[in-house]
Amino acid sequence: MKSDQQPFLSLSFDEFASWCIEHKIPKFRAQQVFEWVYKKGCSDFFKMSNLSKDLQAQLDLNFSFPQVRMEEFVSDDGVRKFHVHLHDGKSIESVWIPEQSRATLCVSSQVGCAMACKFCVTGLQGFMRNLTVEEILMQLYYVRWIKNLQVSNVVFMGMGEPMLNYDNVVKSVNQMTSTKAFELGHRKVSVSTVGMVPKILKYFEDTNARLAISLTGSSNESRDHWMPINQKHNLQELKKVLQQVPTNKWRKIMFEVVMIKDETDTDQQAKDLVHFLQGLTAKVNLIPYNENPRFPDLKAPTRDQLLKYRDRLMKAGFHTTIRKNRGNGIFGACGQLSSSKY
Ligand code: SF4
Repeated sequence: MKSDQQPFLSLSFDEFASWCIEHKIPKFRAQQVFEWVYKKGCSDFFKMSNLSKDLQAQLDLNFSFPQVRMEEFVSDDGVRKFHVHLHDGKSIESVWIPEQSRATLCVSSQVGCAMACKFCVTGLQGFMRNLTVEEILMQLYYVRWIKNLQVSNVVFMGMGEPMLNYDNVVKSVNQMTSTKAFELGHRKVSVSTVGMVPKILKYFEDTNARLAISLTGSSNESRDHWMPINQKHNLQELKKVLQQVPTNKWRKIMFEVVMIKDETDTDQQAKDLVHFLQGLTAKVNLIPYNENPRFPDLKAPTRDQLLKYRDRLMKAGFHTTIRKNRGNGIFGACGQLSSSKY
């Protein structure tokens, strides 16, 4: 990339259209270029055949597309993990999960993570830096257009705490849902947070996408241990802010609990969760812990205990699902992503 080039993927349609107008290029050209890039997957201005040669050269001089270097790992169940090498030698991971009726891409928002959740491999490596808008979006662009894989849903559940890279994540979410760009429906994009209380209401003002809250620990005592963010923003503070979310946004909130055998999957934890959720219209997703050699003491829950936990929540009126364990053989499952490949 030449130093004065702007990363094209980081521009919204309105920003690019303004640039065109400033440079005396008719606005319909902005529409044409966006169609090439986002509807046809063309990232070479010289191949945009309905643009003049002069305009192609002008765009090429001013804008760049990322040179993506990714390694791919495929698990037995069809899940693909992409290990993405960034320009500064650092790396991140994204995971593509195909299902019968949809395909979900799990993207990263930071290199590493400062949150230090006690069950997460990313947390072990610490925080290195935020991803740019281009680096977030190129994960989707590459999988969709270079690997030619369908993507119907995106979840920000890869490396990093998205709310700590707020501006870049919000801009990326809005590009993903924009009809001019990636055109994923608002309900198809979800940002998962550990419960970054000061950002939650703002997120609902700035996007129409979904929010997921990772609880993992349903009492302050348990959560202080598993998700140290709780020592700063505890469950009462979290609940207070959630009660202020406009009711028409509620359908967009999902609570996630990583189920760790004899730790977060106990009857008492289920009871505490029911207590925490009282008064909130909540959906809950139980994520069985994916065993990892980096945490030899942590074990996956038994099926019986998972069902018992789920039934207790259902009985209390909370719609609860159990996530299927996918991508485990390539360390592509939840909480297993890191800057080292294995
Ligand atoms: S679970 Fe998410 S927020 Fe917690 S350390 Fe891992 S990447 Fe960071």
